[in-house]
Order: sequence, then structure tokens, then C-alpha cells
Amino acid sequence: MENNASMRKWLDDFALSHPLVIAGPCSAETESQVLAIADQLKNSDVSIFRAGIWKPRTRPGGFEGVGAIGLKWLQKAKAQTGLLMAVEVANAAHVKLALEHDIDVLWIGARTTVNPFAVQEIADALQKTDKIVLVKNPVNPDLALWLGGVERLYNAGVKKLGVVHRGFSTYEKTTYRNIPEWQIAIELQSRFPDLPLICDPSHITGRRDRIQEVSQQALDLNYDGLMIETHIDPDHAWSDAAQQVTPTVLKQIFKDLRIRNLSTEETDFNTRMFQLRTDIDRADTKLLEILGKRMQISEQIGALKKEKNIAVLQSKRWNEILQKMICEGRTYGLSEEFVLRLFKAVHQESIVHQEKIINR
Ligand code: PEP
Ligand code: MN
Repeated sequence: MENNASMRKWLDDFALSHPLVIAGPCSAETESQVLAIADQLKNSDVSIFRAGIWKPRTRPGGFEGVGAIGLKWLQKAKAQTGLLMAVEVANAAHVKLALEHDIDVLWIGARTTVNPFAVQEIADALQKTDKIVLVKNPVNPDLALWLGGVERLYNAGVKKLGVVHRGFSTYEKTTYRNIPEWQIAIELQSRFPDLPLICDPSHITGRRDRIQEVSQQALDLNYDGLMIETHIDPDHAWSDAAQQVTPTVLKQIFKDLRIRNLSTEETDFNTRMFQLRTDIDRADTKLLEILGKRMQISEQIGALKKEKNIAVLQSKRWNEILQKMICEGRTYGLSEEFVLRLFKAVHQESIVHQEKIINR
């Protein structure tokens, strides 16, 4: 997939204000529910109204969506509010119906992105469409699979493409419904800076009281937009009740969000920034220098161990180092989690160096 600035251009056509905001219920439930929510979202920061019509549920027995009838409600909502309409599509039949009802934005859900057959079927049905198509990340933390979905659509001639970051499922219980793994989205953004990146804090957090915090994080990371589930009566929503907010709360969220700029012309700021960045670059170079030195010491230890035929891994010593470093790290304001990750990586590299010596 080439890096094509036209991907971002479609954003400029629609996003009257940065960031691009997509809001609406997890699921369309009734015609009056759809119309009431859309009515409260018109003339706000919202440019695109979302509502699931076909709901992929992890387990059977839940509400699986109202089906094609919901498309008629969206058409009505569009006529009454002027908002663009977005639905999730999971197969070619959904695409056909959505196009017949002139839906503006089609998104591929996390449970569909994992399946290249399904994504290809959708891409084939969308050949050369000028509709906006958004690809949610797959449920598993796999950047290649996510990109693969985007590439299938790109190859089918879909030009108004974007991605939605909705977090990843884990076996362990965490405080998130789907852990963000921000670094995956950041890597995607740095490889394809022109591909609009939208955060879905609703599915990341799974709870409405954390939407604000995760939305701010996304904006701080220079995301292009937000998709936030919004319902007139969240507690009685037919799906994802805990994570939906009312239109009033949504408006408050946007009042409180701090929108960041990418750059400024201000000379004083730019001079200070340049100095600080030079300092950072110098510190990074020193960091590498010290790590290189550390590995040389490691190799000397390796040579010594080789002489006496001693095992490379010494768990007791290693655990002592870790505990000591966690304590010392605290005095430098470094989190335990970071120190652990850093030293695990250092240790791994150290073992590689010693192995090289010992088996030479
Ligand atoms: C949704 O947007 O309501 C949805 C089902 O999301 P996801 O595909 O991210 O689980
Ligand atoms: Mn949902």
C-alpha cells in the first residue's frame, strides 16, 4: 500500500472541526430512538452518526441488531439532521444493502477484520466506491492483520479509507474492556501518516466514566478523530449499556477535551523546543553508548564463565538486580513497569552476547 496523501484529504472535506467526531448508539433499536439521538447530536461537534444494524455478538442470545429496517431509520435521521450516516458491515450482503440505502460510511468491525475471507468479500462488494470505509483493529493485537484489511480495500480502489483503534482483547482481566496497546496504533500511524486514525474509547474502556481520559490520550497522540457510543438512555441500551454516554455528556466531554496543535510558528517556542530536542538526542546517544559498554562487560563475564564452564543464566543474581533497579528507578521517577520491561530487554540482549562468547 503506497502512502497516499489523498487518504487524508477526504477528512478535510468532512471534518469541519478537528477532530472528526463519530457518535451514535452502539445499536439502532427503534426508529424513535435513532431519530431522538440524531436530533440531539445535530449542530454539535459530531459530523457522522453511527448505529449498528447487524451486531456481531461474541456469544449467541444477545441482541443481534434490527437488520435492514434500521437503514430506513438512518435515511430518515440523515434527512432530518444532515449528519452523515455510518453502519458496520460484515459481509457482501450488508454492503449491498448499505449502498442501496446510500449510507455514507461503512465500518468493518473487530470480529470481521480478523477474517481475510470476509474482508476480501467486503472489498469486492465495495469496488471503487467513493464511500468512506473504516477498518477497526482486529480483536487480537496483530498490526499485519489490521493493515492487511486496509490493503484489501485499497487494492479494490476504495480511496476514502481510515482506521479505528478500539483496543485488543486479552485473557487476563484488566481495567480496560479492550487494552489499548497504543504502540500498535502509533506504529501504524508512523508507517502510514496519511491514513486517518480514529480512536474508539467506548470499546477500549467499556465504561463511560473513562471515555474522557482515553479520548484525551488519543488527542495527545495526534489522532484524527473519535468514535463515541452515545444513547439517549444509556442504562437501558440493548447492547453495550455500561459504555454509552448521553448526548449531553458527549457535549461536556468535548468542552473539556484539550485539542492539541501539531506545530506553531512562534519563534520562542521553536527555539526552546529545538534546544530540548538536541538535549534529548544527546541523552539517547549516551544511553546507547552506556548500553554498548554494558554488553562489553557482559561479554567479559561470558568469557570468564566459559573458562570455568559456568551457566549463563543465574536467576538469583538476576532477581537481585531487578529488585535493586526497581528501587533505584523509583528515585528517578521511573515506574516499576517500565524498569521491569527495560531490564528484561537489557538482560535478554546480555544473554545473547554471553551465549555468543561461551559457544564460540
Ligand atoms: C461496535 O462498534 O458497536 C462494535 C461491535 O465494535 P467492535 O467491532 O469494535 O467490537
Ligand atoms: Mn458497541
